[in-house]
Amino acid sequence: MSAEFTTDQIDAGRRLFGGPSLFMLGVAKLEQLPEVKGVEIAFAGRSNVGKSSLINALTGVKDLARASNTPGRTRELNFFNIADRLTLVDMPGYGYAKASKKEVKQWQAVLRGYLRGRPGLTRAFVLIDSRHGVLDADRETFELLNESAVAFQLVLTKTDKIKPAELDKVKAETEAEAKKQAAAFPLIHATSSDKGWGLPELRARIADLL
Ligand code: GDP
Repeated sequence: MSAEFTTDQIDAGRRLFGGPSLFMLGVAKLEQLPEVKGVEIAFAGRSNVGKSSLINALTGVKDLARASNTPGRTRELNFFNIADRLTLVDMPGYGYAKASKKEVKQWQAVLRGYLRGRPGLTRAFVLIDSRHGVLDADRETFELLNESAVAFQLVLTKTDKIKPAELDKVKAETEAEAKKQAAAFPLIHATSSDKGWGLPELRARIADLL
């Protein structure tokens, strides 16, 4: 267990995600946004960063975030109800090479509209592939979050794919990137959905927001 969290916090995280997690709806247009109900958190990241895997691993529901990976759903904001206590929003993966400029513009407008007009949105978690570190596409997202005054935190994914020394290095580099961002928390979460590493701590962090 990480020294950062108390047993109580870890327990609170486990209890939160031990309840039922359900897919609510996918939103492609701002008009379709559901009413804000309590605390909302959002997950963002480049396509293939491991976002679906992380959402599935956090909730313990194997195919929960699959909907967001099926064609047609990938450009939607997908809303999940976590134990009736939290709304988790899976934002469309960015940096997808095959997307046209028009498509990119369209969903950026939806993202902007969502981020700017969402008082319940308590924190965004931006996922960073630990093998690549922060890339320009991520910095564009940081900018969008800064502009929208949405507090965000960075989460390293797939840490089982790199060596411990490399993880230390990417963690330090990612922390330095976060420190440059007005709306970012400098604390980095390191995770592996495959191994379950860092998940109790991330659940605890999220439960702390309630
Ligand atoms: P998304 O596009 O961000 O939703 O990414 P996915 O969750 O679909 O993951 C993309 C690829 O990375 C898949 O092949 C996953 O199996 C793999 N992956 C995701 N998380 C991990 C992880 O923690 N460890 C490893 N080794 N592979 C992972």
